[in-house]
Amino acid sequence: MIDLRSDTVTRPDDRMREASANAEVGDDVYREDPTVNELEERAAEIVGTEAALYVPTGTMGNQIAVRTHTERGQEVLCERESHVVKWELGGMAQLSGLQVRTVEGDDRGVVSPERVRESYVAEDLHRPGTGLLTLENTHNSKGGAAIEVEKIRETAETAHGLDVPVHLDGARVFNAAAALGVEAREIVAPVDSVMFCLSKGLGAPVGSMLAGSQEFVDRARRNRKLLGGGMRQAGIIAAPGALALENRHRLTDDHENAHRLAAGLDGIEGLSVLEPETNIVLVDCEGTGHTAEEFLAAVESTGVLGVAFGEYVVRFCTHWDVDDGDVEEAISAVDRAL
Ligand SMILES: *Cc1c(COP(=O)(O)O)cnc(C)c1O
Repeated sequence: MIDLRSDTVTRPDDRMREASANAEVGDDVYREDPTVNELEERAAEIVGTEAALYVPTGTMGNQIAVRTHTERGQEVLCERESHVVKWELGGMAQLSGLQVRTVEGDDRGVVSPERVRESYVAEDLHRPGTGLLTLENTHNSKGGAAIEVEKIRETAETAHGLDVPVHLDGARVFNAAAALGVEAREIVAPVDSVMFCLSKGLGAPVGSMLAGSQEFVDRARRNRKLLGGGMRQAGIIAAPGALALENRHRLTDDHENAHRLAAGLDGIEGLSVLEPETNIVLVDCEGTGHTAEEFLAAVESTGVLGVAFGEYVVRFCTHWDVDDGDVEEAISAVDRAL
């Protein structure tokens, strides 16, 4: 089976398993786990922030971030299709008493400065006030669009001009960096905090990082504890995470595979494929006369897994357990299925 459902399905390699086995550990709630401390320092250095916090999942990282930046009752501006709105169980409302105001992004999920200005709400007797803007890069629902540094900067500067901090959901920020040919720190520089996943294209079995100023991370650490994310000998899972960080330069391989997969699938009658910017390939199968669910059932029977991303849209994701041969095989398996 060629599993293209997500870049989260990768399994840790022998080096990662050995790193877990040999990790020096301590109680991380007491800040005594040297492996976690090292990972947090290295992560902060790579994204160019003062500090970083190791968190179990990207979802928890985002939820800690929004809570840390805001006060209960405030509004959070989010792009309409963003993960933090669509796929986190309404956590901002459930966990932090926040109200989401969605902002329309463009077809790549870019939020313009104008949209931020018109959606901003000043606090007064009747209105809660805007407490935060979240952005996403790469943008998952928009097919892994890698949003340019200049666009992030323009929008973040507009928010800052209104005294609104900015959190970046950078679950795949290293995919964005690889696609744009910049360092992740350049993408992160205009924003106040960033979350990124070690457990996606970077290949770690578990874990994400939340990075920002020292003051932000100190308060985020308390919120991590509150949400149940204070872990003990976490070096066991942080050790492979540290190796994963060094995998960021191999993401271009996934992007090349995504391009080849997209080109191959686009040549199949009835399929229309968006040119991928990173490792996410969105395939529109309406031209086959079948729904996404029917299409997925058929390709599963010939050995390929994907996920439905709409009634007629399927997402395939390349990752480090998928090689050139798998891409060729996936294309011919889809062809056979149809
Ligand atoms: C996967 C993902 C998350 C959440 O990460 P989990 O570790 O699955 O909780 C957040 N944002 C985006 C854009 C993602 O793709």
